[in-house]
Amino acid sequence: MSKCNFCGNKDTAEKHTDYIYRHKGHFMLFENVPCEECTFCGEHYYEAKILKKIEKDFFEVLDKKKQPARKIEMPVEVFAY
Ligand SMILES: [Zn+2]
Repeated sequence: MSKCNFCGNKDTAEKHTDYIYRHKGHFMLFENVPCEECTFCGEHYYEAKILKKIEKDFFEVLDKKKQPARKIEMPVEVFAY
């Protein structure tokens, strides 16, 4: 990556982060996903092959071809002032 699309900063650091894939009301949390993090604004960038793998795993779990590592319950709140 040459520079951050958001802030223009040129420095990134290799990190691991959590990533939530969302598709038509289905969610899947991926932990420990490698990414490049902008050292200035913290925006995350993922390699195409990483995103492809996430998408593949998501659909395998959705189609019950694969068991996820575990499942979590997620509280939901509708935001209101
Ligand atoms: Zn940035």
